[in-house]
Amino acid sequence: MNFPTKSVAEWTAYAESLTWPEAMVIDGKHRAGKDEARVDLVTPRDGSVVTTVPYATEDELELAVAAARKAFDEGPWPRMAPKQRKELMLAWVALMEEHRTELATMLSVEMGKPIADAWGIELRALINSYRWYAEMADKELDEVSPVGDDDLALITREPVGVVAVVTPWNFPLTLSAWKIAPALAVGCTVVHKPADLTPLTAVRIAELALEAGIPAGVLNVLPGRGSVIGKGLGLHKAVDSLAFTGSTEVGRAYMEYAAQSNLKRVWLELGGKSPNIILPDAPDLQTAIDTAAWGIFFNTGQMCTAPSRLIVHQDVADEVIAGVLAAAKKYAPGDPFDDSTTMGPLASMSRRAEVQAHVDRALADGSTLEIGGGAIDLEGVLAGGAYYQPTVFTNVAPDSSLAQNEVFGPVLSVTTVKDEDEAIRVANNTDYGLAAGLWTANVSTVHRLARRIRAGTVWVNCYEEGDLTVPFGGFKMSGNGRDKSRHALEKYTELKTTYIKL
Ligand code: NAP
Ligand code: MG
Repeated sequence: MNFPTKSVAEWTAYAESLTWPEAMVIDGKHRAGKDEARVDLVTPRDGSVVTTVPYATEDELELAVAAARKAFDEGPWPRMAPKQRKELMLAWVALMEEHRTELATMLSVEMGKPIADAWGIELRALINSYRWYAEMADKELDEVSPVGDDDLALITREPVGVVAVVTPWNFPLTLSAWKIAPALAVGCTVVHKPADLTPLTAVRIAELALEAGIPAGVLNVLPGRGSVIGKGLGLHKAVDSLAFTGSTEVGRAYMEYAAQSNLKRVWLELGGKSPNIILPDAPDLQTAIDTAAWGIFFNTGQMCTAPSRLIVHQDVADEVIAGVLAAAKKYAPGDPFDDSTTMGPLASMSRRAEVQAHVDRALADGSTLEIGGGAIDLEGVLAGGAYYQPTVFTNVAPDSSLAQNEVFGPVLSVTTVKDEDEAIRVANNTDYGLAAGLWTANVSTVHRLARRIRAGTVWVNCYEEGDLTVPFGGFKMSGNGRDKSRHALEKYTELKTTYIKL
């Protein structure tokens, strides 16, 4: 299937024709929740109210956890033959494909992602993730230990139980899929709390699960406040494991909730301030430059992995900085419903104010603003949108606020270094350790430096490349555990030893 190219007017008309979910999904049923708890869904495209969202309260939280508990304890889901779970999940994937344009448009409305990226990148990742883990359901074998002729020792994996999934809004479908898909594939049941900005695409995914025949209570979705529903899940004694993607600050709170309750397993994918090191022998300096710009402006900089600290060797600094400034002009913020838009709005007006506060602090710290640095109010129907200029600072001191704090917006910080050692020192001078980039054609330099960078992923002569077979996650305060790959299954299973005397 190819991207269904449309004009802005056609996308607008299509978006207006969509039927948005009006209720949560709990125990296989649609539940409207309390009238007084509904909140407006505002699109950052133009600031208009699109519909209202049913917000869960403590009552719905209890119902959803009880439903997931019952679906786990009484089945059938965890006791189904894995190939049966696989078939049901593949039927669900087929529905996601059928509804691809609808889901992409809802996503674009919810958080302002350009429709071409929503359809081409995020929906592809969503579908691939669910398909990959569905296929894995019947392909993980257990182990028998070599304990000698008189004994038999089995090492088996069992689903951990009820999993709470709490996710952010920047890549909401993909990041949720990276958790929900492996959890369901191994037989867990799930209560998902999506981010406040992207609640209804998550509900729509759960509606499609029901349509595919996935049993009641297996996937429950609770739009709601982090401080109520997220915290409630974190403290709930009937939740066995909690998988979170979001900020380091909230991740820390989840560890506290677990400590205060039942020591549920807590898996955190948190923030980043990823370094991107360009050395003079980069194999293709123009590709390094274009990728550095794309990396920070793609998704309007709202990427946990964004290469937000460009660390450039002094011998190529002038050329790289000039190149990045030229490339930044290609990311003029535009309408997410325009197929050619390369950068949409930020996800909300309050996010825009936060980005501005980071920029103001960088100016006060003495960093040099080279381009951008302010909000943009587009004209006409887009006037109320949360648009922001692509922004680049140079002469950023490694200890300054801009070099240390995640902006989560289209703001690049550039630091010039004199040699490899200084590059590594600056790269590792952060509490985070999610990802890094390294540009050099020398194979020895690649290995020497990649080993010294404290990050969960090091991209060499590329950035944001990936595959479901490779794990994703952070060192240090970027979190623990890994999404994607077979390693993700560790979050959703317990190992059991059964030791038998023959
Ligand atoms: P956030 O504020 O931490 O929110 C993430 C989720 O936690 C949301 O569902 C939120 O609910 C909930 N939450 C907020 N306050 C809570 C509380 N006190 N107790 C329990 N739950 C609470 O993060 P965000 O602003 O949505 O997303 C941006 C962050 O996510 C960035 O730091 C980014 O680096 C990180 N991120 C990490 C990765 C990764 O894989 N490592 C990927 C993408 C993003 P509400 O929406 O209702 O507030
Ligand atoms: Mg937040």
